[in-house]
Amino acid sequence: MVENSANLQMNTDTFLVSVFEKAISEQASDIHFERFGQFFIIRFRIDGILQERWRLAATDLEQVINSLKVIAALDITNHETPQDGHFEFILTSSGGVINTNAPGHQDARIEETYQQEDKKINERVLDVRISVYPSIKGEIVVARLLNRKNALMPISELGMDNDTLSKVKHIISKDYGMILITGPVGSGKTTTLYSLMLELKSDERVIMTLEDPVEFHLEWLRQSELRPARGFGFNEALRSILRQDPDILMIGEIRDPITAEHAVSISLVGRIVGSTIHSNSNVGTIARLIDLNIERGMIAYAINGIISQRLVRKICTNCSEQYTPNQSLLDYFGVANNSATFLHGKGCTNCHNTGYNGRIGIFEVMAFDSGIRSLIVEKMPMDAIEDYAYKSGMKSLKQDALDKVFAGLTTLEEITKFI
Ligand SMILES: [Zn+2]
Repeated sequence: MVENSANLQMNTDTFLVSVFEKAISEQASDIHFERFGQFFIIRFRIDGILQERWRLAATDLEQVINSLKVIAALDITNHETPQDGHFEFILTSSGGVINTNAPGHQDARIEETYQQEDKKINERVLDVRISVYPSIKGEIVVARLLNRKNALMPISELGMDNDTLSKVKHIISKDYGMILITGPVGSGKTTTLYSLMLELKSDERVIMTLEDPVEFHLEWLRQSELRPARGFGFNEALRSILRQDPDILMIGEIRDPITAEHAVSISLVGRIVGSTIHSNSNVGTIARLIDLNIERGMIAYAINGIISQRLVRKICTNCSEQYTPNQSLLDYFGVANNSATFLHGKGCTNCHNTGYNGRIGIFEVMAFDSGIRSLIVEKMPMDAIEDYAYKSGMKSLKQDALDKVFAGLTTLEEITKFI
């Protein structure tokens, strides 16, 4: 959609409200405001892909950036260094409202409303993170929309098939041990981690979290945000956390040897620990932990399972049709043309002509059994561990992705992003 500058001559705040309302209605995760030659363009990131929504005169950009800075309580005179801020966007029945009076993420008003009507507020209040960054063509603003409603998905809605789902439920049913979720940036690890916590939620157990930062406030979790500069880093937190008597500990991400060591020890003394870690595969996670100086014996006996995941776009159901994929793609995947019915989205207004709408997870779940534990302790190569897991019935990412293509959920083109 392209609009002219008439919008802005009325009122920048009103214009911004309409931008945010539109972004939310289209389920965008980010909004990019930047100069592009003589234009100022606004793009939404939807299902991981940027799409242009407004193209205005470049002269309007300054006014919009100024307003965003004011809303996010940033220094409007500073154009030289990056700045980060945030505000809340509240969707009411009569439209969107920008709430500039949300100090930090500790807004008491929101906590109160949570208690009154948990579900409703989840859909209505969005945290918006603003990042202003100086570039040679002027400042660029990226607004990230954190939608609590999207953050919490029941585990059954992530896209796991029945076997995978029961495997994961079995892994988290243990009294203690670790479950790790791995994948590249933007593969949905954190969403899956929250889903696991939701599945484990119970009045009889305490779930504590260590996050950096806390993205979504949830009343039923004991959440803590790490502030290393003020002496509350992973190290300090993990040293004291067991005195808080938790049953389950969620660590946002394991990225250094100290966090890894604490996480492993806590799971070995009888707690459930869930976390995410960057790596490209399940055995890549084992290798990464070895790299973080964790002994193989600890890795073998602390971990109950690892979930490797990716996100792919789903075919738009409004415009899906049968088609024949490119022969080279069929060859690449070793799939015969006549072996299945292939669908794709031909493009419509619902999906802004992308042919896709929404995303779904692709999973590979490694449940640790005595065989895997022995192979790790015996210092067998990662390939051997992986082979063993596949032979014991671990469904590969590739197979899960192909199954979703055959089920008409996504396309071969889409899954080549990671296979
Ligand atoms: Zn469509």
